[in-house]
Amino acid sequence: MRKEDKVLGKVLLSFDIEEFDFPREKGEDFSLEEGVKVSGEGLLKILDILKKTGVKGTFFVTGNFAKERPELVKRIVREGHEVGAHGVDHFEPKETDVKEAKEILEKVLKGEKGFKGVKGWRQPRMMKINYKELVRQGYFYDSSVNPAFIPGRYNNFKVKREVYWALEKEGKQGGILEIPASVATGARIPMFWLALHLFPFKMYSALAKNVLKKEKYFTTYFHPWEFTDLSRFPVVPGYIRHNSGEKLEKRLFELIRELETAGAEFGTYTELWEEFVGFGKNLRNKSSLD
Ligand SMILES: [Zn+2]
Repeated sequence: MRKEDKVLGKVLLSFDIEEFDFPREKGEDFSLEEGVKVSGEGLLKILDILKKTGVKGTFFVTGNFAKERPELVKRIVREGHEVGAHGVDHFEPKETDVKEAKEILEKVLKGEKGFKGVKGWRQPRMMKINYKELVRQGYFYDSSVNPAFIPGRYNNFKVKREVYWALEKEGKQGGILEIPASVATGARIPMFWLALHLFPFKMYSALAKNVLKKEKYFTTYFHPWEFTDLSRFPVVPGYIRHNSGEKLEKRLFELIRELETAGAEFGTYTELWEEFVGFGKNLRNKSSLD
């Protein structure tokens, strides 16, 4: 069998590198320094897993985190991963963040080998985004949509589940490509971070392979703090603490191995964007997605 015949699809792993602000969200007094410290610990664990497995991912980093831990953000790029923006202050998003976050990241990463600019945006807590502002600030793609129903957060049941042009050719770079998080089956089971905590591992990996077979790519996202010892924070509900820390490290490691064995390739969000605009090696037939 030729290699191309074996390729199941492309996996886009992403990580939202924000200051841990869960206690703040629950009304506790929790400083930015503490939040950055927790996420810094988790980021090291993620980078180690990716290094061990030899796969590349995309990291959406907040301006706060980049200012507090510039060395770690440089390490992300040095190890071959992509850096996108995830707002400035994760707890208090502002409209001006689209511009400011990019400026902060580009300043921190200027001159770093392999850094090609900030091209992607992810809105904190996957809230609504202003696509026109993304074009104005020079972003190429957005990845702030989870096309599922998450009680208390959003209902995106009617939003397109596959990659689509959110703004086509309204600005330079041909508009904004929306790369939603993957959902499984007709019931749109969310395949985001929490699902890897809660589903039996075999079920999660089988659903992911299913998405890969059907849609030719699979996207998901995690946060660094999930990979730390969350028993320190009783404010974090039990269902989030379940399979967190070392258990989640093991699950992510095994998921990568299993998808790789099944014939999946791993890449960055910009690589997928390149395929859609025709710069990529494996140009996709766009009409099949409409
Ligand atoms: Zn976030």
